[in-house]
Amino acid sequence: MKTIFEKSNGVDGILLGNCVKSCECISSKYLRQGNIGLPQLSELEVMRHYKELSDRNFCIEKGFYPLGSCTMKYNPKVNELLASLEGFTNLHPLLNDDDSQGALELMYRLQEALKTITGMQAVSLQPCAGAHGELSGMMVIKKYFEVKNEKRTKVLVPDSAHGTNPASAKMCGFEIIQIKSNERGQVDIENLKTNLDNNVAAIMMTNPNTLGLFEENVLEISKLMHDNGSLLYYDGANFNAVMGYTNPYIMGFDVVHLNLHKTFATPHGGGGPGAGPICVTEELKEYLPSPVIDFDGEKYYRNYNLKHSIGKVKAFFGNFGVLVKAYAYILMMGNNLKKASADAVLNANYIKEKLKGTYLLPYDEPCMHEFVLSGDWQKEMGVNTIGIAKRLMDYGIHPPTVYFPLIVHEAIMIEPTESESKAVLDNFIDVMLKIADEIKENPDFVMESPHTAPVKRVDETLAARHPDLKYNE
Ligand SMILES: *Cc1c(COP(=O)(O)O)cnc(C)c1O
Repeated sequence: MKTIFEKSNGVDGILLGNCVKSCECISSKYLRQGNIGLPQLSELEVMRHYKELSDRNFCIEKGFYPLGSCTMKYNPKVNELLASLEGFTNLHPLLNDDDSQGALELMYRLQEALKTITGMQAVSLQPCAGAHGELSGMMVIKKYFEVKNEKRTKVLVPDSAHGTNPASAKMCGFEIIQIKSNERGQVDIENLKTNLDNNVAAIMMTNPNTLGLFEENVLEISKLMHDNGSLLYYDGANFNAVMGYTNPYIMGFDVVHLNLHKTFATPHGGGGPGAGPICVTEELKEYLPSPVIDFDGEKYYRNYNLKHSIGKVKAFFGNFGVLVKAYAYILMMGNNLKKASADAVLNANYIKEKLKGTYLLPYDEPCMHEFVLSGDWQKEMGVNTIGIAKRLMDYGIHPPTVYFPLIVHEAIMIEPTESESKAVLDNFIDVMLKIADEIKENPDFVMESPHTAPVKRVDETLAARHPDLKYNE
């Protein structure tokens, strides 16, 4: 496919007339003389160009997208409709509270809903991604100990954690202590105890963890941490597994982030806008990023008056459009959020049981909303996990998350979500079993995939270091 510059054929898509040339107010020496070099095509050709580009983009609307840890669920179109209501899109962020009552009320109600869902006591909607929520949450924890005049320098992070966890803690100046997982993929309590001293500010945990396993000892861990005067941070990226069944407050966590763009059905991928609200206990309420949205019985207002607030972490209201979509989704689902989690867990276990035996399942336990296979057996036959992932593209399926979590060799992390029908799951299972057969018969053919995608195998390292963004036919 050619770039729009290469397609340029000299046709004027838009006629601006002589308005600039004839303008007397700008001296001719400031007017551009030469050709600016913009592509010239008719409006229809421009439209076809971008349609062709968008057709090449794989998205949840196009096919199955079992990207582990990312919760690529269906994003109902009604959410988009509501977020594009004029009253929201035309609202200027610098308007005062009196003139933004509707938007503030929506934010307030979303805060209340998230409190119910997480069990926590206070919420800030400002952070604009999970990682941003982690950073804000760790800043809250840091400030909490500063105010208490306690010098705590270390943060514990399990070896199964998402890379953003240690990165966020490190950005707040903490030293990272890695905690081992045991042979069942759970946090190793003995290893945790060995590393626990009065320099430890917090532990960052994901539950269910990135292996898709529920941390069975979470209550013992939260007691150990609190007895030590330390706090617990909950990475809520996997919240889709537990909605309505349990919550981080019951588990003993102090700070939580949610990924609204994962669990609460707002589209994501390609770096698009997200929202990573943080929810905290009563004790940490005054440390939240400001403003939070409050209600005085008559009026909704932005409350900047938090005694120990870490300050603002995002301009204006955060990613407001994402908040509208998440709120719409929560209202639409109601108590069915619980059913969504149940179905997400059922779907993951169904695929897991069908694929184990053909692919190595290193932690053979009932899983939550996702599970992790290893491509080790296939690697012995000459095809690594990248080969399997690329071959899936030939069958119209987005590859799962691969090579994460780091504690599984050749990891293949599969998260089907609740939105998919049994037929879609069965097709995925059939394709995965077929690829395993293909690997036995003709590993080279699989290693050369994708065979049907517009871009074939690339040198991954070269592509990352020296991206050549121009596609050559
Ligand atoms: C996605 C994810 C994050 C980071 O969230 P972003 O919204 O992508 O910044 C953190 N932890 C886990 C386990 C995740 O899956």
